[in-house]
Amino acid sequence: MTRQAWLNGVYIAAEEARISPFDRGFLFADGVYEVTAVYNSQLIDMERHLDRLERSLRELKFGTMPDRKELEDVHRKLVSANGVDEGYVYLQVTRGAYGARDFVAPDNPRLTIFMFAEKRALIDTPSARNGSRIVTLPDIRWARRDIKSVGLLAQALAKTEAKARGADDAWLVAPDGFVTEGASSNAWIVTKDGEIITRAISNMILAGVTRHALFDALGQKGIKLTERNFTADEARNAAEAFSTAATGLVTPVVEIDGVQLSDGKPGPTTRMVQKAYYTAIGADVPKTAPWVNG
Ligand code: PLP
Repeated sequence: MTRQAWLNGVYIAAEEARISPFDRGFLFADGVYEVTAVYNSQLIDMERHLDRLERSLRELKFGTMPDRKELEDVHRKLVSANGVDEGYVYLQVTRGAYGARDFVAPDNPRLTIFMFAEKRALIDTPSARNGSRIVTLPDIRWARRDIKSVGLLAQALAKTEAKARGADDAWLVAPDGFVTEGASSNAWIVTKDGEIITRAISNMILAGVTRHALFDALGQKGIKLTERNFTADEARNAAEAFSTAATGLVTPVVEIDGVQLSDGKPGPTTRMVQKAYYTAIGADVPKTAPWVNG
């Protein structure tokens, strides 16, 4: 089946979508993006993703905003046109193309808006079942990580380096020794006393929508989450660890820099967190993820 995408107001076969090489997204990474998970053919937390998209655009002084109602509608249509019961919708907005390479951004940009949907398992994946192995690497990104910029070279290099080292993913460490976040996820540890910890929101990290949803889901259960910095060393010595993102949901971390956590298996707190999140997005956990109960 041909994959349907959407480019600047037009539904189009994905492989036929074309943009100008003068697009500022291509020349300057002058653009932002969002990835919204789809489960049971429902978009998970789409409004929060669109809020964050608008915030990113405002912070970059785009001036022009995409039509939110249209974006919501296209999200739903791409899910249905592509038969995505489980997967994600990708949305990218750049400051457009002007036939010249000018560093100075235009006042009223003609936005380039591109969206596509992809089928992909989110809950029952090898990493969600068995956990992932992480390496820590220096965080060499720019100072505005709160903006979901398409400038992802540092993250791409970190993931490539992690793979070269035989790991599944990378967590990034600031020069002060504290973990900022995963290369495409938020980073969490569980102490030996069972305290669940993640870094507080600031311009050092992306305010993850999945992170936010976990605060809601676990808060409703009366489970306390602590926002504070932790070092790579504290992470290696933690009882458990996990990452959160729209594409990986809650992914257990069972090894950091070659050091095994919880005997190399996802621990009980991580399983509880997975279960709470899967339940919050409407999954029938005993059926879809029986492994969360050990
Ligand atoms: N941090 C970074 C650097 C990311 O790229 C992502 C997702 O792509 C996240 C955190 C998690 O954000 P979300 O839960 O909204 O997917």
